[in-house]
Amino acid sequence: MKNYHCKKCKTHIKSASRPAVFNCPGGGHHQWTDLGEVGSDNYQCGKCGLLVQSKNRPSVIDCSSGGHHQWTKL
Ligand SMILES: [Zn+2]
Ligand SMILES: [Zn+2]
Repeated sequence: MKNYHCKKCKTHIKSASRPAVFNCPGGGHHQWTDLGEVGSDNYQCGKCGLLVQSKNRPSVIDCSSGGHHQWTKL
């Protein structure tokens, strides 16, 4: 399982494969970012507030608040 995040609609889902892109509430297609493997550690982005359970530090690209996520391990 991996964490996926769409920076347009701020949706975060756990999925084994890249989710469908259709019908993003933010308009048009979802822009899914692969944040990495789901795990038991909690990471929160100080900019957009996104909280994910991740095996390793999640990918920093495409924060929904702009630029890079700033992950803090909780
Ligand atoms: Zn979306
Ligand atoms: Zn963020």
